[in-house]
Amino acid sequence: MKYLKAVFLILVNNINIVIELINLFWYNICLVKLMENVKAKIEELRKTLQYHSDRYYNDDAPEIEDYEYDMMMRELKALEAQYPEYDSADSPTKRVGGKADNSFESVVHNVRMESLQDAFSFDEIRDFEKRVLDVVSKPAYCVEPKIDGLSVSLEYENGVFVRGSTRGDGNVGEDVSGNLRVIRNIPLKLNKEIPFIEVRGEVYMPKKSFERVVDRQLLNGEKPFKNPRNAAAGSLRQKDSEVTASRGLDIFVFNVQQIEGVTLNSHKQSLDFLQELGFNTVPNYTLVNNIDAAIDEINKIGEARGDLEFDIDGAVIKVDDFAMRAELGSTAKFPKWAVAFKYPPEEKQTKLIDIEIGVGRTGVLTPTAVLEPVHLAGTTVSRATLHNQDFINEKGIAIGDIVTVRKAGDIIPEVLCVNEHNGDGVYEFPEICPSCGSEVVKEEGEAAIRCINPDCPAQLLRNLIHFCSRDAMDIEGLGPAILETFVNNNLIEKTEDIYLLTYDKIASAALEGFKEKSINNIINSIEKSKQNDLGKLIFALGIRHVGAKAGSLLANHFKTMNAIMDASVDEILQIDGFGAVMAESVVDFFKNEKSRALIESLAQSGVNMESQSVVNDTRFEGMTFVLTGTLPTLKRSEASKIIESFGGKTSSSVSKKTSIVLAGEEAGSKLDKANALGIRVISEEEFMEMIK
Ligand code: NAD
Repeated sequence: MKYLKAVFLILVNNINIVIELINLFWYNICLVKLMENVKAKIEELRKTLQYHSDRYYNDDAPEIEDYEYDMMMRELKALEAQYPEYDSADSPTKRVGGKADNSFESVVHNVRMESLQDAFSFDEIRDFEKRVLDVVSKPAYCVEPKIDGLSVSLEYENGVFVRGSTRGDGNVGEDVSGNLRVIRNIPLKLNKEIPFIEVRGEVYMPKKSFERVVDRQLLNGEKPFKNPRNAAAGSLRQKDSEVTASRGLDIFVFNVQQIEGVTLNSHKQSLDFLQELGFNTVPNYTLVNNIDAAIDEINKIGEARGDLEFDIDGAVIKVDDFAMRAELGSTAKFPKWAVAFKYPPEEKQTKLIDIEIGVGRTGVLTPTAVLEPVHLAGTTVSRATLHNQDFINEKGIAIGDIVTVRKAGDIIPEVLCVNEHNGDGVYEFPEICPSCGSEVVKEEGEAAIRCINPDCPAQLLRNLIHFCSRDAMDIEGLGPAILETFVNNNLIEKTEDIYLLTYDKIASAALEGFKEKSINNIINSIEKSKQNDLGKLIFALGIRHVGAKAGSLLANHFKTMNAIMDASVDEILQIDGFGAVMAESVVDFFKNEKSRALIESLAQSGVNMESQSVVNDTRFEGMTFVLTGTLPTLKRSEASKIIESFGGKTSSSVSKKTSIVLAGEEAGSKLDKANALGIRVISEEEFMEMIK
């Protein structure tokens, strides 16, 4: 007791020290907790950024806006600067772009393809200037639009295009030479024969091409590209150059990476020289003498943004003089002599006047917001996507609400949030299809609400357009407008009616603009389509998840329509490239009475129901071919089809597993690799011999 009392007295007499000690104890506990939180936050940000970086660079399908990504990156950078103990060389703040996909050959970049430091305010641009002026004096700056596409390197030897590659992680990219060759504005031969030059440019998809590609994707029931940047990346990294060619890509070149035999001293001089060589250089660039003038240029580029035929996501300021650039140097990720100003996404409030429900080819009901028109990012916006019922519920949207609309990199504007709710609950999808009045269904695990009536007129027209399109039955003359006229005039009520059209039937409808010649042309192309290969017909049927390639795989494997109709899921799964979802979709389609009736009617009309591929000849079974260069007569896609019809496979890269390389003119690195690995290389002539 005595002892306790003594301790108590000591504590009371030293109360200040005791309080200090308790505070210190709590402070340390809080500090440990804070550091734990910071560490967890940094790790979480790195993980999230890595996830979105993979979606963006490797899948070409971003899930969030660039601005959101950029803001997350800023937060991570700030935390790493404040807490250097958690810094890591592996952080997304230190790395460039995505990684090279192994379905293409790798290209090691001799000169690193760097990224750019970014700025979101003019204060940050002035900070950039201060850093520049610490090292060099009186620099001139070149200001250019920042094209929203993907970066590529193009190499020329003695004025001839030899190789082109993507940026990848800046050090290693993908060899996409074949796909770059089909972009019209990439010169295959330069106007001057210099020993060697490597240039850097941005491949992009013009807004017009983007709209056309998205229209076609929607028509085919495919998931459309989110924006032109991702469309360009997805189109350039295709295995089939013809697909790339069909996408209308273009390029702006903006840098000389390496050059032999010519000395260039400034950026402006190199852009002029690139133009002389025949390149499309980055447009509207201006040379200015100080940062204020550079900021004026950024404003001008920003104002003209909506009128451009291509998307930009900012403006780039670059020190013009190469000697100054060398003095300024680079960090691990970007050059210190350039900065990209990123325009913030534009957002505006407006009234939601109505919600329109459309019906897609696969029966999916899609809601579109009809808005009081607002001017956003250079265009007038009066419609925006609402995705699906889940999206509407999540945002609590109803007709009459005041909403915020945003248009960032995306061409299709979106509703961000509700600012003023009209108080009338949340908009609910109709329970019946707005086109045919049948009940709609929501399948388990799917956000989409669907009309499953195969005779629904909204789907009928889209199905017909798909059926007659080029990759399907390719019925020239039966384009969307004519099909619509025929449907409206009851000449076509079901798909099979196409083959029941006769000259007299069309003529007796007395439609405006249909003269003898045009009617005969339509009848002739319908007749011609009867001879199409079974693969085209399968694709034309619009079976969910079955694209053109899957259609021809089914036809090659089963040979006849009857065999496909009777195939089980397990039998279909034997085909390389088919998964359970696709196989089940095929079986479900042919289980349907209406599908069977359609096939029967088509067969009666004389439509070919057999695969024209070389039946039972599997001479290439187990073999893998790689095609490279330009073949004298065959298109690469034709050669691939022949190989597949003989049971062989094609691959886009050469490895030890490659059996034969079929090489044409200007074959590049694939040919070198084949020779290095001792793989047999054949010409088109030898190939023709093999398939005789
Ligand atoms: P960046 O796009 O910000 O800038 C560098 C690129 O700009 C270069 O590769 C170059 O090809 C291009 N460029 C276009 N015009 C140019 C010109 N005139 N001069 C010089 N370069 C020009 O950087 P990044 O590393 O390519 O990409 C990062 C950006 O990508 C992020 O800021 C973000 O906006 C976006 N991103 C978005 C997501 C997402 O999920 N939405 C994910 C990852 C990245």
